[in-house]
Amino acid sequence: MPPLPYASRACDPRRIAYAAELAQGTDRFHEPRRENCPWCGSARLRTRLRAPDLLQHKPGRFALDQCGDCGHAFQNPRLTPEGLAFYRRDHDETGPGGLPHQVLAARRDRRRHRADAHLMRNVGEPESWLDVGTGHAHFPAAAREVFPYTSFDGLDPTPRVEAARAAGRIEEAHIGHLADPHIADRLRGRYDVVSVFHHLAHARDPRAELRGALGALRPGGHLLVELPDPRSLFALLLGKWWLPHGQPRHLHLLPLHNLRAELESAGCTILVTDRRTPHTPNDLSAALALALTHALPAPDTPWRDTPPGPLSRALRAILSTATTPLVAAAAAADLLLSPLLRRTPGLSNGYRIVARRDT
Ligand SMILES: [Zn+2]
Repeated sequence: MPPLPYASRACDPRRIAYAAELAQGTDRFHEPRRENCPWCGSARLRTRLRAPDLLQHKPGRFALDQCGDCGHAFQNPRLTPEGLAFYRRDHDETGPGGLPHQVLAARRDRRRHRADAHLMRNVGEPESWLDVGTGHAHFPAAAREVFPYTSFDGLDPTPRVEAARAAGRIEEAHIGHLADPHIADRLRGRYDVVSVFHHLAHARDPRAELRGALGALRPGGHLLVELPDPRSLFALLLGKWWLPHGQPRHLHLLPLHNLRAELESAGCTILVTDRRTPHTPNDLSAALALALTHALPAPDTPWRDTPPGPLSRALRAILSTATTPLVAAAAAADLLLSPLLRRTPGLSNGYRIVARRDT
């Protein structure tokens, strides 16, 4: 984000809005801490990590707890809807500021989206497909090249999905969550395929979101879910520097066995469990980039009280340039290790499930 000119800083409407909200403190953004697991109800909880907002550097501190029985990891205390809106404002999940291009390059591009769509060719030629958490609908845009006769719709909590429809990337745009009964009713039984890429971490109630996704399928339809794997070795080694831990914007991290059990109990047959394809080769480079951004003098942002001084800005610029080769080296190591990590159980940082709704 470019620094704001000093003259316009005082009358920048975004800065004024942030100052008014921060004047009331950030404690009000947290719900009461819960004493049991939101997935299985167990009271055996432990703190998995504590972290500040490493991407945007907004004020506040957050904790992820983990259930000792089922392994579900979740933000505790959880942010209120108002708090989530505060921390998600001016943040784009598909290209978050604060991360260098070497880290972002490892995320999904058009080629990888097409490869993801190709994997669904085994289940036939769907007539209708809903992409949940679609954002700018880059996945449907690429998947249409693989399935030219399929009608793609998108659902997202943000108005980005409307812009994606206006740009012709999807046929219908729906704003909201599948956990919302109005949305779930509107979409019930309409789709041959529902895809949910890295969206459940953002849902306040991932189980309700899953049930909504299954409800949107026709009987015999297929659900594709992809998630970061909270049990991967790098998640445990890197802790708060592991990008998918994503505090404060990620609320839930589901272990694979919980998702499988949930889908089976909902009357689904699991057709594919894949840990290789969903691996994103940026564990080391993203962790290093986050740590460097944390250590460097903070940039100017609309939620800062005072702008950084000239010395601080100069130091940041010099150190950012000086450390760029380090991040590039880490990104190269990520790519080099990627084939090994994909093949070794417990090292891939993501997983995917394809399930058929039988009942
Ligand atoms: Zn649990």
